[in-house]
Amino acid sequence: MLASRTVTSELVPARPPFALRARLLTPLAAGGTRHEPDGLLLVDEAGRLTFAGASADRPGEAAAAIDLRPWIVMPGLVDLHAHLPQIPNAGLGAGLDLLTWLERYIFPLERGFDEAAADRLAPVAWRSFAAAGTTTAMVYGAVYEASLDATFRAAETHGIRAVIGKVMMDRLTYDPTIDPNAILERSLRESANLIERWHGRDDGRLRYAVTPRFAVSCTADMLRESAALAASTGAYWQTHLSEDRAEIAEVARLFPDTIDYVDVYDRAGGLGPRTVLAHAIHLSDRELARLIESGTHVAHCPASNLFLASGVMPLGRYLDAGLSVGLGSDVSAGPDLSIFTEMRVGFYAQNALRTAGVFGGPGLGPLDWLRMGTLGGARVLGLDDAIGSLEAGKEADLIAVDPAYVASVPGAEDADPVDLMSRLIFRSHPDMVRAAWVRGRRLEGPHERA
Ligand SMILES: [Zn+2]
Repeated sequence: MLASRTVTSELVPARPPFALRARLLTPLAAGGTRHEPDGLLLVDEAGRLTFAGASADRPGEAAAAIDLRPWIVMPGLVDLHAHLPQIPNAGLGAGLDLLTWLERYIFPLERGFDEAAADRLAPVAWRSFAAAGTTTAMVYGAVYEASLDATFRAAETHGIRAVIGKVMMDRLTYDPTIDPNAILERSLRESANLIERWHGRDDGRLRYAVTPRFAVSCTADMLRESAALAASTGAYWQTHLSEDRAEIAEVARLFPDTIDYVDVYDRAGGLGPRTVLAHAIHLSDRELARLIESGTHVAHCPASNLFLASGVMPLGRYLDAGLSVGLGSDVSAGPDLSIFTEMRVGFYAQNALRTAGVFGGPGLGPLDWLRMGTLGGARVLGLDDAIGSLEAGKEADLIAVDPAYVASVPGAEDADPVDLMSRLIFRSHPDMVRAAWVRGRRLEGPHERA
């Protein structure tokens, strides 16, 4: 049994206010990382951090705090790209290319994601995200309005921070109920209805992303109108970009007047700081420069990219140029909901590129991946003033991890923060996240595991 000898989940506070004593590991907004072997977090009634630092600086409060040591408390992970209706397919379809995989596995699955299916699956899905350490998830639903209401309802009840969108497709679609002449108007109206009901709910915990699936599934009209809807309502706009060579060729065929794939979204008015584009693996220098210039963000999904043999993102080149990048699980093209897994696969993939001589610069270290999966993701969503690090004034979106699960020898724990994070990435265990909170409210999921 690997569970900690000294901490039990009954100790974990369920709602604010509370004071926690634990080992703290967090990126800092001003740069660098904070590591406190004996740290203290004070969370006020509203679920905000009023103190994050060394226990020695607040000895009275530390003595009275709930002591979770040797657990590590970190900022909750941010998953910028996942497909909630696809979770039942996780791990299936290896070896297929993107377009074949969509037709064979994904469209039949999403076609069945009606309201009843969403009522069954969404509560499980949100608990699974929390169990993986994700406290903020940006997800795609299916095409049906009622199934999105059910998905939002489940998120509202669960307590996770979520950005959710109804998939929009006016060609290459799986929706058997559509009238081809009315699909654009209907999809826009339903998306607008969902924005009205859910965008900004619970003081901004729930948000909406207008979600055209990708350029292969959407006409220029749908891309343009969906971007206009996002701009007029303040919702996010999310879609896929430059994932697979066959997909890129198909986009070039469908949009012959555009310069390249990025230009398809650019002409639609889709680029900008509220936009999150998944994958972006095969960008030209022009495309990269245009994303950076427009303030557009990218969700990097390395496990998905290798699962479907889509390619390896030249991450060093993108980051050197100044692109804003966070991490995404892309379930179910990514087989695992864990952002720790994305860090590990991403790390290996970048090493593979360097081995092949594609990128010769310095690689990212474990603490760089921690930053990308927390504060980097928060920046993508424009939420870095509220979440993404353990700093006074931020909301208490936290996870607690038991290092016993990743130790190479029982009882041995890594004293150095780089070593600790390296172990969490390369030996991450599905049960190691023991608790998760959003605004100081404990989420169902982690403590249900063994
Ligand atoms: Zn995706």
